[in-house]
Amino acid sequence: MKTKPPKVHVHTLGCSKNDVDSEVLLAQCKANKFDISERPDQADVLVINTCGFIESAKQESINHILDGVRLKEEGKIERLLVMGCLSDRYADDLRHDIPEVDDYFGSRHLPEILHALGGEYKYDLIGERSLSTPSHYAYLKISEGCDNPCSFCAIPIMRGGHRSKPMDELEAEARKLQEKGVKELILIGQDLTYYGLDLYNGRKLDELLKRLSDIGFRWIRLLYAYPAKFPVQILPVIRERENICNYLDMPIQHSSTRVLKSMRRGVTEKRLRELIGLIKDEVPDIRLRTTFIVGYPEETKEDFASLLEFMKDVRFHRVGVFPYSQEDDTTAFPLGDPIGEREKMRRVKEVMELQEDISMDHNMMLIGKEMPVLIDRIDQGVAYGRTEYDCPEVDNEFIVQGADEGFDTKDLRAGSFYLAEITDVEAHDLFGIIKKRL
Ligand code: SF4
Repeated sequence: MKTKPPKVHVHTLGCSKNDVDSEVLLAQCKANKFDISERPDQADVLVINTCGFIESAKQESINHILDGVRLKEEGKIERLLVMGCLSDRYADDLRHDIPEVDDYFGSRHLPEILHALGGEYKYDLIGERSLSTPSHYAYLKISEGCDNPCSFCAIPIMRGGHRSKPMDELEAEARKLQEKGVKELILIGQDLTYYGLDLYNGRKLDELLKRLSDIGFRWIRLLYAYPAKFPVQILPVIRERENICNYLDMPIQHSSTRVLKSMRRGVTEKRLRELIGLIKDEVPDIRLRTTFIVGYPEETKEDFASLLEFMKDVRFHRVGVFPYSQEDDTTAFPLGDPIGEREKMRRVKEVMELQEDISMDHNMMLIGKEMPVLIDRIDQGVAYGRTEYDCPEVDNEFIVQGADEGFDTKDLRAGSFYLAEITDVEAHDLFGIIKKRL
């Protein structure tokens, strides 16, 4: 008896790597002629793609699973499937604690999920994705997993060791994205800089960048670079290739050599200062984003003070900061969690307040400057975009205040590039006028 293809809704939590997995799953569902439901409560099958990175993310994933259980109990959905990192890490506990879920899958079990949905995984659809981002930008996941030993991190437990995707596959995937209208390609992985070591016996991010740059995207952006053993050969490629953004996200997590040693980051404060100095010398126009963890068990008040001094010296353009989350099965777990939540949040606040001033100073320098802006969205008649120095969802937005004579802002289109002049700034936003379409 031919059964009716299921109507599927995929709800994605966590990072852009999870987004890409869900986009591949949705493309596979479409290829199997499954209907895709925009709403969870109108689906036959709800698939939740979970995150298991830190405590707060785990809690959010569990809350969404319980929402799914409620929908099932109310008869709004027939089946509930859970996938992704939380499932990678705690499938047995979850099966025991939340048995209402029909099945649990890891982040690398897409064929099994398609089978559970009554379909089959179509291996010939390499690089095929159903984008969840606005159609003009997309993430390209160049590798999976991580071989680095960072003491606080559970990602290698969930995603396994580092596996680079072959360059030919990545080029094919990128070309498909370009055919779909993607203009900004955002490279992601757990550690971009490790690319190729497993597959090509060498760090080949520079070669990959050249091949992707030759495809002709307007912007190519790099996220998640790792500072230890940084492949400096990518710097001239970033400088010389017009369509590779002068932008680099390089989470360093801390600056104190003592804390970095305990975190097993394989780098010292001196080496970090040298590397950042080299990056700024090689690519003078670069904007650097980084991430810090504060409240790590072995972080003393002196370590924290030295981190603030480091920030004042280096003056990153963009900073994210997390309070330490004690994660079981990590090598830092036995250190306990001695620094209380209040003190951790006080340190988070102090880092963000200092960065607010630094970001404001950086943005003030942009007033009167003209630069290309990509419009991401138009909301109630106001257009919002970004410069090449700003990553979606985390960095400055450019808010259009008007346009030059002869140009009507009503003609602005999401996904299009315009020359803009910055007329005003805040610490995390830019304001200005449109000069012309590019
Ligand atoms: S580089 Fe370190 S922090 Fe990042 S995913 Fe790998 S182990 Fe985790």
